[in-house]
Amino acid sequence: MTGPSIVWFRDDLRLADNPALRAAVDRDEPVIALFVLDEESPGIRPLGGAAHWWLHHSLASLGERLRERGGNLILRRGPAAEVVPTVVSDAGATAVYWNRRYGGPEREIDAALKSGLRADGLEVQSFAANLLFEPWTVQTGAGTPFAVYTPFWRACLQSPTPRAPLPEPQKIRGATPHPPSDDLADWNLLPTSPDWAGGFREAWEPGEPAARARLREFLADDIADYDRARDEPAAGVTSALSPRLRWGEISPFTVWHETLAANADAGRFLSEIGWREFAWHTLFFHPDLATVNLRRRFDAFPWPDLDEEHLRAWQQGRTGIPLVDAGMKELWQSGAMHNRIRMVTASFLIKNLLIDWRLGEQWFWDTLVDADGASNAFNWQWVAGSGADASPYFRIFNPETQAAKFDTNGEYIARWAPEHRSGDAPDPIVDLKATRARALDAYDVVKNAN
Ligand code: FAD
Repeated sequence: MTGPSIVWFRDDLRLADNPALRAAVDRDEPVIALFVLDEESPGIRPLGGAAHWWLHHSLASLGERLRERGGNLILRRGPAAEVVPTVVSDAGATAVYWNRRYGGPEREIDAALKSGLRADGLEVQSFAANLLFEPWTVQTGAGTPFAVYTPFWRACLQSPTPRAPLPEPQKIRGATPHPPSDDLADWNLLPTSPDWAGGFREAWEPGEPAARARLREFLADDIADYDRARDEPAAGVTSALSPRLRWGEISPFTVWHETLAANADAGRFLSEIGWREFAWHTLFFHPDLATVNLRRRFDAFPWPDLDEEHLRAWQQGRTGIPLVDAGMKELWQSGAMHNRIRMVTASFLIKNLLIDWRLGEQWFWDTLVDADGASNAFNWQWVAGSGADASPYFRIFNPETQAAKFDTNGEYIARWAPEHRSGDAPDPIVDLKATRARALDAYDVVKNAN
């Protein structure tokens, strides 16, 4: 059947190791690269502000790279179930390819489109590209999904080795004429009044070339110190790959193979990639992860009435607790936060302020450049104690002890919350010891619930 092939790009904004793109190029018909901004289909969660910023720049980069190779990126906005068939018929396309997604509503949309387009006579194929292990392939001996990380990752490591990454196509035969595209600027994904993204521009360069460069730099300069210093927020030895993986500017297969080629002793780093897999597998089996406690007995948690002033102080880094304020300001200014500090700030919100983890998850969703449907909710539930293989409920991070241990010379706090060094900081909004005791009492209710 002759006629153009459509590659529907989603969370895979790359040319290298992109099986859907590869299938279209190999088919030897004109290729139409399509991205649909769909924030309106039922169940689809609209992206946060930080994510919009990243997406804008990543799409600009992808469009340029496609054009350099002879292709085009067609941008459309609206419900995918309507937009994709419209582009198919406008273009006279005869094949549609995409890489799989794992969220519940996304899978429903994709499954309906697949059967609808196939019924119309099109060739439709989906590929594994964004996870090393497909969720339905990793199970316990009893045939159930894993609820504990260590045996999960052991089972992954005993599975067939992740495939080698596919090379990037050098030439793409674009369709002429091609279907009309929206103008990226008209999507208004960038902040204007006020422009809060100055710190983002300093911290990040979205796009596939920068993602590849960061992986190479990490493997050359930082991975040797990773085991020793990964918990120190000022050390800068972690990979900073999370937004790149979230947007699919680099594939986990590329990270896996390049890491092992560069450093055979990278088990610790790869096991963090394993946590990403575990989060996505958990979402696959629990599509409501961002809203429903995985351990349902946490539904009985006695959250007090929301103290909005406390929530705002936390969001704005005005809690008077140095490490918490530094973390929340790093997040606001750069769109990222070091993993240990994410745990400390989340624990402070849930346990010292007794504010529902879902409100923290929502704030991170709006402000993180790496916010994704799985890792964010998974980790919030982990800190709350309601999630998979979660931190026990009685584990309450003490931000002062954490600062003494992991920010020994105060460099991180001095960088992000200098007011705590100059004596201009607000007083603590709560007493750490008293609120710890209050949290333990509240958690007792859950412990005793059925
Ligand atoms: P590295 O230490 O270099 O790790 C390498 C990669 O492993 C990361 O890029 C990431 O893809 C993955 N990874 C590492 N730790 C975790 C983890 N605990 N869970 C899942 N994947 C992990 N990560 C996100 O990608 N998106 C989120 O929305 C997100 N929200 C979080 C919310 C909270 C409350 C907490 C405690 C953690 C959250 N994380 C999230 C996990 C983790 O903090 C980030 O992945 C990490 O800080 C990213 O920095 P890095 O790329 O330098 O990590």
